[in-house]
Amino acid sequence: MVRPCFRVCYICGREFGSKSISIHEPQCLEKWRIENDQLPRHLRRVEPRKPEVLTGGSCTLTENEAAYQSAQAQLLPCGNCGRTFLPDRLIVHQNCFNPQAAIPRPHSPQFIH
Ligand SMILES: [Zn+2]
Ligand SMILES: [Zn+2]
Repeated sequence: MVRPCFRVCYICGREFGSKSISIHEPQCLEKWRIENDQLPRHLRRVEPRKPEVLTGGSCTLTENEAAYQSAQAQLLPCGNCGRTFLPDRLIVHQNCFNPQAAIPRPHSPQFIH
């Protein structure tokens, strides 16, 4: 049995069929640019670069791994708990822990955020 060929998007890290990835990638990058522009300056990231190993022809594990790593690099670590999030999720996450907030809320491991 042949395992269906899939490709990992180097921007969002999601899996796509080898045909749909070529359609998805430009759209995903466009979306990434719009989202990045809307982020606060300190959360903005450098535009993801397509990993060198991505030749476009095959769907080897190495290529998908490189694409996955690239997508992971897009995540930002929370300065409080070290977990990584997409920037928009990080903003939501950190809203539950805001030093300037009127009501201080604990940011302990028991605190599910
Ligand atoms: Zn994508
Ligand atoms: Zn946190």
